[in-house]
Amino acid sequence: MKILITNDDGIRAPGLRVLADWAAALGEVVVCAPSCQQSGKSHAITIGQPFRILPSDAVPGAEAYEIDGTPVDCVRYALIGLGRRFDLVLSGVNRGYNAGDDIVFSGTVGAAMEAARMEQNAIALSASPADTPENFARQLPKVYDFLISRKLFDRCRLFNVNIPPEPRGILWTRQGGTCYTDEFVPKGDGLYAQEGECRYLKTDDPSLDTGALAAGYVSITPLTLTRTDFAVYDSFRSAEKL
Ligand code: MN
Repeated sequence: MKILITNDDGIRAPGLRVLADWAAALGEVVVCAPSCQQSGKSHAITIGQPFRILPSDAVPGAEAYEIDGTPVDCVRYALIGLGRRFDLVLSGVNRGYNAGDDIVFSGTVGAAMEAARMEQNAIALSASPADTPENFARQLPKVYDFLISRKLFDRCRLFNVNIPPEPRGILWTRQGGTCYTDEFVPKGDGLYAQEGECRYLKTDDPSLDTGALAAGYVSITPLTLTRTDFAVYDSFRSAEKL
């Protein structure tokens, strides 16, 4: 089994290390990861300028490459640059949940989505920033068994997984229920920082990823690549036929 690993927190992120350690028991691991923090880069790629890609010894026991690019650049280097194919692409484990609206911005999800777009089975993994890598690593085999035992990759290429501390179990979820207290904070000299806190709404609904996390469950959400609004598309198409 061939496994590609990336992580938008960078090649030295503790969440990448525990993921690579666990995946080594499943098969042959290749790591392509950014040289520095790339959170919030979503599906961005680096174009119009060259960027550095170097072999790395940052991940013991794995063939690894350190890339001065985005998380999606990393997946594209593995698939296009190296010309490899993988049985599974793992992105994470991100420091901090990617639930609800986070999925739009997440580099962790973006990397997994690019892998799925290129017809690889992919899982985006995120955990509570309050949890330790050693602790959330214990949930990785349970999440993997949940997906494999149900043959879920036969039905979907891309899953978004969030792991709370000491989970009570696993829930099948849909995306929703976040909001942010975003603001642009002036820092002087024309500099601004985007700052804000994440708030979970509807935490009493465990069918939402945010609600499942609030209730203490691992959340697994199947994701699509298309952004077509099929409800509107179908209604327009029906109306045209009238
Ligand atoms: Mn991140």
